Amino acid sequence: MEQLAVKALVVKESDFGDFDKLLTLVTEENGKMTVTVKGGKSLKSRFVAACEPFTYAVFNIRRTNKYFYLYDFELIEDFYPIRDSIEKFSLASYICDVASEASLEGACDPDVLKLTLNALWALSYKEISLSLLKGAFEFKTAVICGFMPDLSVCEVCRSEKELLYIDVRGGRLVCDDCLRLGHLKNGLSEASVLLSVSPAVLDALRYISESPINRFLSFRLCAEEMPQFSAACEKYLINHFEHEFYTLSFYKTVVDGDI
Ligand SMILES: [Zn+2]
Repeated sequence: MEQLAVKALVVKESDFGDFDKLLTLVTEENGKMTVTVKGGKSLKSRFVAACEPFTYAVFNIRRTNKYFYLYDFELIEDFYPIRDSIEKFSLASYICDVASEASLEGACDPDVLKLTLNALWALSYKEISLSLLKGAFEFKTAVICGFMPDLSVCEVCRSEKELLYIDVRGGRLVCDDCLRLGHLKNGLSEASVLLSVSPAVLDALRYISESPINRFLSFRLCAEEMPQFSAACEKYLINHFEHEFYTLSFYKTVVDGDI
């Protein structure tokens, strides 16, 4: 029987049969793992805290055949202040959903975990705009997953114009002049999504894509720029994952005040 200790974040927990829980973990060294918690549904279980969403801990795991079982854990951080508001909780749920999608089984990619922990930390302990946090997390996740856009100049005329669009499918910039003159032929189809980006939003996107993970939120953006920034970041990520997230729809319902 193989035993291992992994530092990991619980990104999803669900019931499994009558008594057990299944945890989806994003780990530092093993990518995404699914771990069974025997008796985890019982409120008397010694693993109650391990089965909470957003728990970051050292998980001691035994492997039997193809399956992993939890036998001990040591809590590092529970991000408890996320539970202060439904806005924070629903955004954290979406962040974990994205982290789960971005993390691959068996792949050693500590950046996804690092970025997610930084985002949950800011959500818990910093006064920060939720829109800025959400957008920066979305865009940085896409970059970490290999969808690095070319944000230098217009891809066609190679100049930096005032009015630029980001092509979220092609991961490139196009200027208004080249678009109007029909100079962009290669790769632009009816399915292309072009979003205008102001100089301030473009600066923010450049900052996020190039900054170290632990500094990815160290920029400012004024409120008037936020709708354009939010649209660009969300569409960029969703386009690359090629599906919507239920937790994202729920978060939007919450912030729109429908709940
Ligand atoms: Zn151009």
